[in-house]
Amino acid sequence: MTEATAPITQDVLTLPRKPPEGGRTNLVGLTRDQLRDALVAAGTPERQAKMRVGQIWQWIYHWGVRDFAQMTNLAKDYRAFLAERFEIAVPEVVTRQVSDDGTRKYLLRIAGGHEVETVYIPEETRGTLCISSQVGCTLTCSFCHTGTQKLVRNLTAAEIVGQVMVARDDLGEWPVQGAPKDETRLVSNVVLMGMGEPLYNFENVRDAMKVVMDGEGISLSRRRITLSTSGVVPEIARAAEEIGCLLAVSFHATTDEVRDRLVPINKRWNIAALLAALRDYPRLSNSERITFEYVMLKGVNDSDADARRLVRLIQGIPAKINLIPFNEWPGSPYERSDWERIEAFADIIYKAGYASPIRTPRGEDIMAACGQLKSATERERKSRAQIEAEARGS
Ligand code: SAH
Ligand code: SF4
Repeated sequence: MTEATAPITQDVLTLPRKPPEGGRTNLVGLTRDQLRDALVAAGTPERQAKMRVGQIWQWIYHWGVRDFAQMTNLAKDYRAFLAERFEIAVPEVVTRQVSDDGTRKYLLRIAGGHEVETVYIPEETRGTLCISSQVGCTLTCSFCHTGTQKLVRNLTAAEIVGQVMVARDDLGEWPVQGAPKDETRLVSNVVLMGMGEPLYNFENVRDAMKVVMDGEGISLSRRRITLSTSGVVPEIARAAEEIGCLLAVSFHATTDEVRDRLVPINKRWNIAALLAALRDYPRLSNSERITFEYVMLKGVNDSDADARRLVRLIQGIPAKINLIPFNEWPGSPYERSDWERIEAFADIIYKAGYASPIRTPRGEDIMAACGQLKSATERERKSRAQIEAEARGS
């Protein structure tokens, strides 16, 4: 942080005094350009704007400060000016559950009284935060709890970045001024694998990830962020170019007939179309491997023939196959494959030269495992007609 204190200039003293109509603007989730525009529109002199953006950015995202009064390298008047017009707001934590295995699940309340879940998964050498991109989901994957819930709305960039900030608050991960720098990262990785389809909320997800990746703030490298998509093919190249993070794809089946049933977006963009988009991703995003997620459903997609077909399909794509034992939820229509079956499946893939880790379910006792998230207050189910329309791809 720079120690220089900005002089109180005439410009600051003549800043407009009146706060804007309609409440204060949240600065969280704005890109640097948007932050600059917001400051200038409020009356910050143009020629100071770049410096102010740098200072405020560092306070919010490096130090985790939520109160303008603590921004001690800004003139007092300017701090008061900011506090009248802006806020630094993150979602409110409604409940926090901690699993026997240390996994933490946060239920967060956002504007409109809606709720989303965020899950923190500590591991020995790293910690992964699984964040949501939508309240509910428009898609209807038949094995996914979120898929039974209507899409309520897209999360804003502020609400997406806010999930990372809330987790850092809870874990006490913001640096302490004056204390020696702690290099251990509690939230070392972020995965967009919570509720919702991130590529159907493209701009907000992109802007939020830009904030999270910014080197003067939370500073997570793009190689520590993984976006999981069910296969929104037209947005995959765009994700490579505009976000550049790692990609995971919910593959889950090796024939269109089965994938149509499991991941209905397959009716719009089938396996061949999806694979074509995936083949281009590593080059466009300058990243390494794509993660193929494959949920293990007993008797549905878990045969040796499936494993062999999978290997053939992904030939030529740098890949890792993440096998996810199915996590049950109340009323779920599938069973988890037996352990021996999962291991035999993994073995075929491994022998073909691909890493094939089996994902250990985490936080099952608090319904925090993959595909179990669903907000407690949004129990409204999709109508039959809606599910059928989605399955038709209309
Ligand atoms: N909408 C995105 C990201 C969220 S889901 C997507 O579909 O990729 C994160 C992962 O969990 C996806 O691979 C999803 O298919 C998987 N999943 C969903 N429900 C599950 C369940 N009940 N058990 C195991 N994995 C599940
Ligand atoms: Fe939506 Fe992903 Fe669940 Fe499918 S698996 S319903 S895309 S959240």
